[in-house]
Amino acid sequence: MQIKDLCTCCNYLTITLIERNEETATFTCSYCKNSFDLPWNNETRSLIRTLRGGGGRMKKIQKRNPKLLELLAQLKEPGDHISVDPLPSDIQNREN
Ligand SMILES: [Zn+2]
Repeated sequence: MQIKDLCTCCNYLTITLIERNEETATFTCSYCKNSFDLPWNNETRSLIRTLRGGGGRMKKIQKRNPKLLELLAQLKEPGDHISVDPLPSDIQNREN
């Protein structure tokens, strides 16, 4: 599974690869290879849904940041990376 995300390690918009087993989802940045695990639960599933663009929140973000949509559209292959400067505030504050 692949999602497009802002990597908190290299600070590029990149394609993130997700591999999961019964209990854990491993997210790996296809550019800098930074990876982290999240427990595979409802929270993680809904996070992935949002990041894949299916969530209402992502649609709102894209509406406010049409440029972000263009940037994300440029990510096609694992390893692609786009610098965003300045960061759209919605991405930056996603954790909140
Ligand atoms: Zn990265």
